[in-house]
Amino acid sequence: MEYYSKQISQLAEQLASLPGIGAKTAQRLAFHMIDMPEEKVEKLAETMVKARKTIRYCRECFTLTDQELCPICANEQRDHRTIMVVENPRDMSAYEKTGKYEGVYHVLHGAISPMLGIGPSDIRLKELMHRLEKDVDEVIIATNSSLEGETTAMYISRLVKPTGIKVSRIASGVPVGGDLEYIDEVTLLRALEGRVEL
Ligand code: ZN
Repeated sequence: MEYYSKQISQLAEQLASLPGIGAKTAQRLAFHMIDMPEEKVEKLAETMVKARKTIRYCRECFTLTDQELCPICANEQRDHRTIMVVENPRDMSAYEKTGKYEGVYHVLHGAISPMLGIGPSDIRLKELMHRLEKDVDEVIIATNSSLEGETTAMYISRLVKPTGIKVSRIASGVPVGGDLEYIDEVTLLRALEGRVEL
């Protein structure tokens, strides 16, 4: 039996399909939207569509951007010879928030996970190796300290080592299984400064 109009149920269902939004929250959001001024809802929908249409991957580091090159890759003040490898754009922004890292990034968009059937060719590894053909001094592996993150780190170090480029791994101190984006800036900085060469 339908308690509410079909549109509200549909809206709630759509919202519930988003990550981290359960049925209850979805329903609350749906009712909230109904109460919002129409222009505000239009603005929200428009922003979502526009973002989806214009945002793409940076040609160099594969983070999300609305330009061909993201602001970090386009910045000549950054040290383009130091590349920090992260799993996703959220990890990248976590490091950016520290304001202390001057190199550039490479976003893998995932990590190797034999259990989930995610192999090296499913993440942006080939693209990383391609970047290493240019002048690069160091690759800092900042994947998460989860099993997948460690597997990926090991795999990358094995790929990079034969090139003679220095490979390092951010220090532990980042809690095991911890997602980088939830770790405070001080801990992130300590992990970066205490990185060990592989
Ligand atoms: Zn970039």
